[in-house]
Amino acid sequence: MRSINEQGYLFEEWLTPEQIAKDIKQVANRISADYRDKEPLFVIVLNGAFVFAADLIRGLDKDMRCEQTFIRVSSYFGMSSTGQLQFIVPLQQVVENRDVIIVEDIVDSGLTIHQLKAYMRAQGAASVRVATMLFKPNKLEYDDAKPDYIAREVTDEFVIGCGLDFDGFRRNLDAIYKVKESK
Ligand code: 5GP
Repeated sequence: MRSINEQGYLFEEWLTPEQIAKDIKQVANRISADYRDKEPLFVIVLNGAFVFAADLIRGLDKDMRCEQTFIRVSSYFGMSSTGQLQFIVPLQQVVENRDVIIVEDIVDSGLTIHQLKAYMRAQGAASVRVATMLFKPNKLEYDDAKPDYIAREVTDEFVIGCGLDFDGFRRNLDAIYKVKESK
């Protein structure tokens, strides 16, 4: 099994690129069916969701008309949440009357999604749903943040790869790695 050392922590490969690709394609198929007659706006949460989003949108039906825009918020430093959401890149597209799909890399406490959904609704979005690559159901603290589209549910451990970072690094890993132990 492949392993990675990052800042004294040992990470082991957990989900292979093939498993993740299959999970993401299933989500893309579901979204294509649910939004067949609509023109959704994907709001991609930077930085982590860009890898998932790239695979997700290319997996959609070729007939689907949709747009993408980006937002950047920050609530995490290192491996723990500060609980404080900051808008670093604000929303640059009008969401009023749009069917919004927020695209996240991982939903943990749900704080980010809880706040983003409230924000989209306040901006007049016609509907707001959430697509995430990974979801940690045991960690969820905000009921309204349960994602509508989940590529894969995972356990509570800290993970990296496929866009998920450790202090900015390791987003480029093509598999999901789970933390095993600290040195
Ligand atoms: P939440 O607001 O749901 O608690 O946290 C969402 C954000 O926390 C994610 O977008 C991600 O940036 C970060 N996060 C939560 N769990 C993990 C994890 O296991 N690994 C990494 N790399 N980031 C995580």
